[in-house]
Amino acid sequence: MTAITDPAPEAAAALTRREELQKRFSTLSPPTRLHIDGRQVDALDGAVLERVSPRDGRVIARVAAGGAPDIDRAVASARRAFDSGRWSDLHPRRRRAVLQRLARLVEEHAEELALLESVDMGKPYTDALAVDLRVTVQTLDFYAEAADKVYDEVAPTGPETLATVTREPLGVVGAVVPWNFPLMMAVWKIAPALAAGNTMVLKPAEQSPLTALRLAELATEAGVPDGVLNVVPGLGPTAGAALGRHPDVDALTFTGSGEVGRLFLAYSAESNIKQVSLELGGKSPQIVLPDAPDLDVVARAVAGGIFFNQGEVCSAGSRLLVHRSVKDELLELVVEEARRTVVGDPLDPRTRVGALVEERHLERVLGHVRGAVEDGARAVVGGGRVLADTGGCYVEPTVFDGVDPAMRIARQEVFGPVLSVIAFDDDEEAVRIANSTDYGLAAAVWTRDLSTAHRMSRAVRAGTVWVNCFDDSDITVPFGGYGQSGFGRDKSLHALDKYTQLKTTWIKL
Ligand code: NAD
Repeated sequence: MTAITDPAPEAAAALTRREELQKRFSTLSPPTRLHIDGRQVDALDGAVLERVSPRDGRVIARVAAGGAPDIDRAVASARRAFDSGRWSDLHPRRRRAVLQRLARLVEEHAEELALLESVDMGKPYTDALAVDLRVTVQTLDFYAEAADKVYDEVAPTGPETLATVTREPLGVVGAVVPWNFPLMMAVWKIAPALAAGNTMVLKPAEQSPLTALRLAELATEAGVPDGVLNVVPGLGPTAGAALGRHPDVDALTFTGSGEVGRLFLAYSAESNIKQVSLELGGKSPQIVLPDAPDLDVVARAVAGGIFFNQGEVCSAGSRLLVHRSVKDELLELVVEEARRTVVGDPLDPRTRVGALVEERHLERVLGHVRGAVEDGARAVVGGGRVLADTGGCYVEPTVFDGVDPAMRIARQEVFGPVLSVIAFDDDEEAVRIANSTDYGLAAAVWTRDLSTAHRMSRAVRAGTVWVNCFDDSDITVPFGGYGQSGFGRDKSLHALDKYTQLKTTWIKL
């Protein structure tokens, strides 16, 4: 682990950049009130959330915290907007144009949004700009284009009838999202839901509400009619639960933990049987076979796959399953990568691993580390908190060797920069271990052999299987899980299935 502590001369440019960003952040005044019916309003009971940046423990904003009555107001506004037809009945070309305008506004404000994201939840600014904002803009453009390009169907019912199968919007969609990719995850839901003609209430995570509120403001500027996109920050058990239980919400799309995902299924059952889709956690395996093309490349992908975004990635490659014959060599390379990975201030351009989102989460991650040691795993690098004097939440990139598939560290999602290394002796054992958790979000297979790659990718139960790469993606492919990683897919045209229902119209000729 390399921590940024000493401002060496060659680092002067990086430090200047950090100061520039810090200064720029202090000039920003993002919206901090609820966005309901196109207006910014306080919570009815005046409650606020203090936003503490995990970068340095300082308070950066006081954000209105919506409660159940505010969710009621937001849902009523979304319902009025839907029933008025001012969005759902708009010509699809006009919906496309509005969403494209929003994409352009997000692009124009990309640096500002990336800065808000980085300081709010701790990810490196460089990544926020290069990944989160780039994908957010692509997502808006993709679904804007879909608005007037997806056709309905005519069923082959014979000459006596005409049966059309048309996609209709569901109505009011509730979205509850996590803090690890706050804007990007929100837009993975907002863009297809709005393109399909729905109206929405979004509840961002309490740890990262700033970009969602700014997005709502930009949406109004782009011409999204009042009431079509409402944003209500607030606590999960109050605002999140109120949205999940609301009798006038037609569908609820959630990304977050399995524990809360289960609650949303119960909320739906207890209220109006609203349609629920869940994107939950993961424990993704990277399977490295003895004929893997190039172990240097593999080592970089393994390190990137677990340390990117501080390991706070649902699809993080947190289990390295490696054939015993190449294990020692690969482990050494991965450990070198871990030592080279710079941990530090998210605003410093050298930083690869920023701050974990909050103290509570840092304690959770360190608890997993202690559990691994108790179970007999050996930390070959990392394992502790660093840079505590900054007031921020920093943890070293950590690699555990000697992990048994039955250990807690091999089964539970850590959501931090912690890798477990597990050796195997043959392909069947690798697949068995890969499939031995409750999750099934993603996996990777590294091999030169095409048949092995195909066989393994069929045998591993996961929504995405990468071959000879990790984390590569595009808005055109679906993303989501098998097993307890949830159901329903974000991204691609398949996401539209979550936000539309099929209507059959049977006409006797
Ligand atoms: P979380 O489940 O605690 O919170 C997610 C959201 O749910 C937040 O907005 C929160 O306010 C809300 N919430 C919390 N308690 C609630 C309750 N009782 N009722 C209603 N809403 C409630 O998850 P987190 O800690 O913010 O995020 C980390 C988790 O998200 C990890 O498990 C990770 O794997 C998962 N995740 C999954 C994906 C995916 O696409 N599969 C993507 C990102 C994150």
